[in-house]
Amino acid sequence: MDYGLTEQQQEIVNIARQIAQKKMRPVREHYDKTEEFPWPIIEEFKRADLLGAYLPEAYGGLDGGVFELVLVGEELSRVCAGIGLSVATSALCAIPILYYGTPEQRKRWLPDLASGKKLGAFTITEPGAGSDATSTKATAKLDGDHYVLNGVKNFCSTGKAAELYVVFASTNPGRGARGISAFVVEKGTPGFSFGKKEEKMGIRASWTYELVFENCRIPKDNLLYKEGYGLFVAQSTFDSSRPGIGAQAIGIAQGALDETMSYVRQRKQFGVPVASFQAIQHMLADAATSIEAGRSLLYATTRAMDKDNKPAIDKAIAENKIVYDVMKELDTRRWTKESGMCKVFCSDAAMKVTVDCVQMCGGIGYMRDFPVEKYMRDAKITQIYEGTNQIQRNEIGMMLIKEAASHAKELAAA
Ligand SMILES: Cc1cc2nc3c(=O)[nH]c(=O)nc-3n(C[C@H](O)[C@H](O)[C@H](O)COP(=O)(O)OP(=O)(O)OC[C@H]3O[C@@H](n4cnc5c(N)ncnc54)[C@H](O)[C@@H]3O)c2cc1C
Repeated sequence: MDYGLTEQQQEIVNIARQIAQKKMRPVREHYDKTEEFPWPIIEEFKRADLLGAYLPEAYGGLDGGVFELVLVGEELSRVCAGIGLSVATSALCAIPILYYGTPEQRKRWLPDLASGKKLGAFTITEPGAGSDATSTKATAKLDGDHYVLNGVKNFCSTGKAAELYVVFASTNPGRGARGISAFVVEKGTPGFSFGKKEEKMGIRASWTYELVFENCRIPKDNLLYKEGYGLFVAQSTFDSSRPGIGAQAIGIAQGALDETMSYVRQRKQFGVPVASFQAIQHMLADAATSIEAGRSLLYATTRAMDKDNKPAIDKAIAENKIVYDVMKELDTRRWTKESGMCKVFCSDAAMKVTVDCVQMCGGIGYMRDFPVEKYMRDAKITQIYEGTNQIQRNEIGMMLIKEAASHAKELAAA
């Protein structure tokens, strides 16, 4: 389908596709098997200047938005979602800095994330605080010009390969959810070390690490926005990043369908290609339909989101203000419901499509030396991270009820 991309957006897609097909495809099996970090591919991305496609030009980006992030994520995941995630976590670090950082903080950290000089990561999950981030146990205590961080974070994507981390810790444990704050922590800060490296079902080229903070002193200036705003920073970051998980899912589903399509056209049983059986054609049709539906939702949502957020970002940069403050000034809306819908729909579609693709390929689909089973393993994570699909449905449901209540109030007042 023609989605009416601008020349620059099409160019971004073309470059990402070229790197994915020419550089990632030949090595994806290697990284999946060895769980090494895909440094050579990161270098390709740095050379292509694509790591900051979604960031303003003022910080070395291509002046795109969430839509550009989605376009790149989809292309990479179409070949290897694990390698794609190693590129994408920098956005999870950059988005909260862009929205909640002071102009000085933006200047200090965003250019290195845009150029790929430094990779970024985002770490809110703890062993006892997954879906319920309000149970965060990590603490950050103000001591003179520094915060002293203590605690353990787990399941941090890009883990040890990153240089900059957005970390969530409680500055006021007595205040529960309202006591959590967000910080930027630089690798190499004394007291910051790495624990267990996870071995995973899928996205095995992505490193997943435990992070340990023991009396880790970080400058006071590394606080993002204000004390107590951490959960808000995390939630609004997810509003912008969850479509990225949707894009990962649609890329995975499309990649699995591409491989399956070429297999079922050449595999013969009963003297004919298996693609000629109606049972297979119906599965192909369902897969292609849900991919296109997911892509349409994703593109429409992120375009609308960028249209809404971009003026606030540009104004904040021009007037040397914090983006979030300008968003409040301009009364920019939250995108929690729609970004959750993108994640839920696309990830559920990817899971179903990849299971069906394995089925359509028969026994070979189950084998490690055929790429389709990897897509199925990779698809599963898109239903889990950045808030499980159960949590997304809770949030979407809550939003719908709120909207209905305010609509009813408006009607009553009219
Ligand atoms: C490979 C990988 C990479 C990750 N990368 C990162 C990262 O970079 N940074 C980071 O901070 N985190 C990361 N995570 C963590 C991820 O976001 C969490 O695993 C996820 O949010 C779920 O939390 P949990 O694992 O503790 O599950 P739990 O919260 O223990 O949930 C267990 C089950 O209970 C369900 N459940 C829980 N509460 C409710 C409820 N209220 N209503 C209905 N169902 C509920 C869940 O949906 C799930 O099915 C990563 C995880 C993985 C596996």
